[in-house]
Amino acid sequence: MQCNTFYNPIMLVSKFLLVVLCCCYLFCPCLTCEGDAKFPFDNQIEEINATIPNIFLCRMCGLSQDDGGSFLDTASPFSLSVRNETIVYEQKATKVVKTVPVQKLKNPAGNVFYVVTLKNSSCKGVGKWVSDSTWFPGYSWKACVCNKCGRHLGWMFEVNSAVKGSLPTQPTKTGFYALIRDYILTESVAQTLTYVPKIFRE
Ligand SMILES: [Zn+2]
Repeated sequence: MQCNTFYNPIMLVSKFLLVVLCCCYLFCPCLTCEGDAKFPFDNQIEEINATIPNIFLCRMCGLSQDDGGSFLDTASPFSLSVRNETIVYEQKATKVVKTVPVQKLKNPAGNVFYVVTLKNSSCKGVGKWVSDSTWFPGYSWKACVCNKCGRHLGWMFEVNSAVKGSLPTQPTKTGFYALIRDYILTESVAQTLTYVPKIFRE
């Protein structure tokens, strides 16, 4: 018995795929654009970066670190290298362009971190103050974590004479923070994201 080609499942699937391919070719810009065409939203992203405030956020949960642009040039004598990063943010309706040093440091375990030093942050200190193996002589340190998601974001430092026990969870006026650059992002960059990459959704 001859099979009716209209109802033949293979023919139906073939016709459906043909229609889909035709639609994709006609309406999908990815198949018709030039191979080296620029990402169409590049200009918008550059405009956003230039106009909105830059405030560091936890890369994991987005919590503002309340740094208020309190960048410090606190150089460690143990820096392996320093790179300058241009940060643009808005302060009292005025655009501020700041060059921020990012230091490359290594801990005794051999782990390398790129850190920015800040006077203020909501990063919460945990554990006891440690005076050994400090990147900043004269200062004790303790790890600090995001106040919301608990991710380790860096360390806070306190001048040795001000260290008393384990508390507080924030340094005094003599202290500061060193946050890991890879674990924080600026608010302007966050505004350009619509999807959290899988590696940050652990
Ligand atoms: Zn967080």
